Amino acid sequence: MKTCPWVRRLLIGGLALSATLASRAADKVPPRIADVLTPLPPGAVQLGGRLGSQIDLGIRARVAAQDVDALVAPFRERRDQWEWRSEFWGKWITSAIAAERYSGNGSLRALNTRAVAELIRTQTPDGYIGAYPDGGHLQRWDVWGRKYTLLGLLAWHEATGDAAALAAARREADFLLGEVGPGRARPFTNDMWNGMATSSVLEPMLLLYRRTGDTRYLDFANYIVDEWPTPEGPDLLRKARAGVPVFQMFPGPAPVVKEYADGGHSKAYEMMSCFEGLAELYRTTGNPDYREAITKAFANIRDTEITVIGSGSDWERWHNGHSRQTEPWVKGMETCVTVTWMKFAAQLLRLTGDPAYADEIERSAYNALLGAQSIDGTWWCSHSPLAGLKERAPKQCDLHQNCCVANGPRGLLLIPQVAVMASADGPVVNFYGPMKARVPLAGGGDVALEQVSAYPLDGLTRLTVHLASPAEFTLRLRIPAWSGQNTLGINGTVQPGPAAGKYAALRRTWRDGDVVTLGLDLRARVISAPGHPDFAAIVRGPLVLARDARLRNRSEVNAPVALFADADGFVAVQPAAGPPARDVWQTFAVSAGKKSDQSLQMCDFASAGNTWDAVSTYRVWLPLAERETKAAKE
Ligand SMILES: [Zn+2]
Repeated sequence: MKTCPWVRRLLIGGLALSATLASRAADKVPPRIADVLTPLPPGAVQLGGRLGSQIDLGIRARVAAQDVDALVAPFRERRDQWEWRSEFWGKWITSAIAAERYSGNGSLRALNTRAVAELIRTQTPDGYIGAYPDGGHLQRWDVWGRKYTLLGLLAWHEATGDAAALAAARREADFLLGEVGPGRARPFTNDMWNGMATSSVLEPMLLLYRRTGDTRYLDFANYIVDEWPTPEGPDLLRKARAGVPVFQMFPGPAPVVKEYADGGHSKAYEMMSCFEGLAELYRTTGNPDYREAITKAFANIRDTEITVIGSGSDWERWHNGHSRQTEPWVKGMETCVTVTWMKFAAQLLRLTGDPAYADEIERSAYNALLGAQSIDGTWWCSHSPLAGLKERAPKQCDLHQNCCVANGPRGLLLIPQVAVMASADGPVVNFYGPMKARVPLAGGGDVALEQVSAYPLDGLTRLTVHLASPAEFTLRLRIPAWSGQNTLGINGTVQPGPAAGKYAALRRTWRDGDVVTLGLDLRARVISAPGHPDFAAIVRGPLVLARDARLRNRSEVNAPVALFADADGFVAVQPAAGPPARDVWQTFAVSAGKKSDQSLQMCDFASAGNTWDAVSTYRVWLPLAERETKAAKE
C-alpha cells in the first residue's frame, strides 16, 4: 500500500522523537499552575486534509523561503526611529522553529541555525540586540522588538538546548533591566499604544525566569504589572477584571484615521499580546486575579468584537465590532489579530481544559486564518473584511515583510499544537480530519491515534487506537458547541450521543485496533447578524460560507436572497460534487427558494476573495429578501 506523505513523515518523526526530546531544555522553576492540556512532543502529530495541506504550503512557500539576512540587517544597522523592523526576526523564527518541530524538515534546521547565529553576532558588548541606535532606545517599538527577539532565542534554546542562545537572551534581558526600572527609565515613555507594546515583554521575561530560576526576571514582570495603573500605563489588569469592554479601554480620537474614532486607542494585537503575558504570569505565580483578568478579557473580546469568521478589529483597533458586522468597515480584521486571538485562546485552552477555547481556535483557523493566506502560500493579506475585497499586505519598513505576513505562519503552526493534546488521564482530540498523533500516556508508553475523515466536508470521523499493549485511559473527543446532534460508536456498539460544547470522555481499557466512530452535526446553520436581523450568514460545521463573483449568479454577490430555513434554523446545503471554480477549495449549493431547484452557489470563506482583486468580490452577510427566513441566534 502506498504510504501518503504525512503518514510517512509521522513515522520518521516518531523515530526522531527521543533524540529531539533529549535535547530540549528543561525549566529550572516549574509553573505554580500546571496546564490541564499540554501540546504533544515535536513530530508527534501530522495533519492531512485541508488544514494539513495549507500548513505544508505555508512552510514550503513562506517560512522556508525566507531571506534570513534581510531579517538580521536591521539589527546590524540599528537606525530605526519609529519602525518595527526588529519584530520580524523573532516572529519569523518562532514560526520556523515550530515548522521544523512539526515537519522534521532538515533544511529548516540549517536555516534556523544560521539565523540564530547571525542574530547573536549583532549583540553589542553591553547586551543589546535591537534595531534602535544608542540614544534612541526604549522609543516606539524598541522593547516590542526585543520581546520578539527574546521569544525567538528562548524557543530555539527550548528546541535545541543551545546554550549560546540562552546566554544571548539573558544578556538581552539584563540589558533591559539595566535600562528600565525604579531609579532608571520609566517603562512606558515614548513607546506605542499606552504602554501595551512594551508590556508585552512580560511573556519572554516569565519564560526566562522559569528557564533560569533567576528571580530578577520575575521581579521585572511584577514591576511592569505594578506600573500599569500609573498615568502612562495601560491599567489592563484593573480594566479587565472590572469588565470594561475592550473597545472602551482607551477612549479618545483614533490616530491615523481621523474619521474613524470608535476604537480610540484600543489596539487589538498589542492588547492581546499583554494578556498572553498575563497568562504566563498566572501560570508562573498562581495569582487568581490574573486568571480572572484573562478569562474575563477573553469573554469580553469574544462577545463584543469577534465576528462570524473568528477575528476582529477595524483598522487594527477594537470597535464593538461583533454587533456591527454588516456595516462597512475601513480595514476589517487584521491577520495579526486573528493569530494573536488564536494564541490567546490556546493559552486558556492549556490552562483550563475548556473545549470552548478550541471551538474558537477552529473557527479562526478555517475562516479568518486560511482566508488570509495567498493561493500560492508565499504571502498573506493584512485584512479580511466580511464583504468586498481582500488585499495583498503591503511591504513595511523597506523590508520584504509585513506584520501579518510574519504572523500568518505562526497561526498555521499553532494548529498542530492544539489539534491533539495530552492530559493527566489520556489523549484529547480537539480537531478532526485525516490525522495521526502519538500521545504519551501518564502510566508510560504512548498511544497512536489515526483519524480517517473528510471533515470538515463530512461529519463522520473514524478513529483507530494503536497500542503496544492494552491500557486504561480516558480518550476525550471535542464536541463543538454548534454540533447539536451527534453519534458515537465504539467497535460498532452505539453509545449515547455526546452533548455539544463538552468533551465526550471515554474511559476504558483500550486495546490495539479499537475503533471509535464519531458523527458531528453538519447541518448548515442560518445565523442572524447580531443587531441586524435583515442579514444572515450560513455556517456549516466550522466553515463560514460566502458568495463570490466567480461563482454562478456572479453579478449578484450583493443582491438580497431568500433563505428558507427549517423550524430549527437549518438550511439545506450540499457540497458540490463537481470541480470547483478555479482557486476555490469547495463550493456549496444552498437552498434559496421555495422551489427545490432554486439554489445559491457559495464557497468556503477562506477561498472567497482569494484573487485579491475585484474578480473575486465576495460577501458573507446576505441581505434577506423574504421575511419568512428564519435564522438561528448564534
Ligand atoms: Zn499585522
